[in-house]
Amino acid sequence: MNAIQRVVVLGATGSIGVSTLDVIARHPERLSVYALSANSRMESLAAQAAACGAAVVVVPDDAAAARFRQAWRGPAPMPQVRVGAQALAETAADPACDTVVAAIVGAAGLPSALAAARAGKRLLLANKEALVAAGPLFMQAVRDSGAELLPIDSEHNAIFQCLPHGGRASAPTEPAAGVRRLLLTASGGPFRRADPADLDAVTPAQACAHPNWSMGRKISVDSATMVNKGLEVIEAHWLFAMPPERIEVVVHPQSVVHSLVEYEDGSVLAQLGQPDMRTPIAYALGFPDRLASGVGLLDLARVGRLDFEAPDLERFPCLRLAFDALRAGQPACIALNAANEVAVDAFLSGRLPYTWIARVIGAALEWQAGRSSGTLADLNDVLALDADVRAYAGNLGLA
Ligand code: NAD
Ligand code: MG
Repeated sequence: MNAIQRVVVLGATGSIGVSTLDVIARHPERLSVYALSANSRMESLAAQAAACGAAVVVVPDDAAAARFRQAWRGPAPMPQVRVGAQALAETAADPACDTVVAAIVGAAGLPSALAAARAGKRLLLANKEALVAAGPLFMQAVRDSGAELLPIDSEHNAIFQCLPHGGRASAPTEPAAGVRRLLLTASGGPFRRADPADLDAVTPAQACAHPNWSMGRKISVDSATMVNKGLEVIEAHWLFAMPPERIEVVVHPQSVVHSLVEYEDGSVLAQLGQPDMRTPIAYALGFPDRLASGVGLLDLARVGRLDFEAPDLERFPCLRLAFDALRAGQPACIALNAANEVAVDAFLSGRLPYTWIARVIGAALEWQAGRSSGTLADLNDVLALDADVRAYAGNLGLA
């Protein structure tokens, strides 16, 4: 790796992207930005690119490129502007960069994250949907290329920190020796104690009001339904080669314990900290060194108590559906993820009641189970099934 890591941030204008740029700016002696991407908000992208001196930006189409150029206020030279999905994947594999932060939301981030994995980059993965949809393909690409895969989803980063990885970031084919179970913590979101009868009337603003974390809108809704924890169980299965029956979810409303690893001898190791994504991002950017992240002290006396409870699968049917999908196999995981993306999008734009998100996912899983699933040998197969599920789910229950 070069003396100064050159970083590509995919999804720079999002919640994870902004936190990543904050950490990078604290360490000019070892981190620099090579390229940024965004799908919208070209003014924000232009301001970010000017502030960090990015050499390249990647935008979705020519209209966005024109908006970017118009919004540019930085000192010359303007970054090179690359356009389209192909350019996004090529930039993730660009020989001029060492490290790729995959922080696009949804399966839209899969092709570029996979391109980084295939190119053997240090890959900081926030985009859990990529692993949910294409776990086997993705992990094989990491193994084949020798990429360094570092999870920045807080739970998986916590587990990574608690595993005996011996300072290596890799894609294991079996569970780490001596580990009995992985325990993923979940906050329970804004509706942990809500009366299920009130959930029909939930608004997007209520669903996005997470008690502990500030995040993008899609993952905020995912946290409210707890499908996020289900996606994370699938993510943990692939990252750590752990069978579903050895992954447990525990609700922990304070979001201080980010996850735990239980060993055969009864030891349980946990990683704690404030709920601020700059900690796992800094861990992965600096690995194996520790970098200052800007995150403040964890004042345990002020936190006062740490509570834990079993998840209520009646109240959170999406979590059960995710375990079902993981046991059923990759086509079901693709269906779960794609149906959820369609349903959350419809909910956020006022076309679907909140409680229908679980129904749409359930219906898509049944629909998928009743089809003869072809092989999922490559990215195109995954994207084709993803598109079929979206077409099916898009017609369900929409107002
Ligand atoms: P966000 O909505 O805040 O940002 C998403 C980013 O992706 C934006 O830059 C947007 O322009 C870009 N984008 C959106 N659609 C795109 C498309 N079709 N093509 C290309 N780019 C596109 O999302 P976020 O909260 O930062 O989450 C990003 C990813 O990280 C998600 O997979 C999420 O599950 C995961 N994650 C987020 C957090 C968090 O605290 N926000 C924590 C853990 C994991
Ligand atoms: Mg998480």
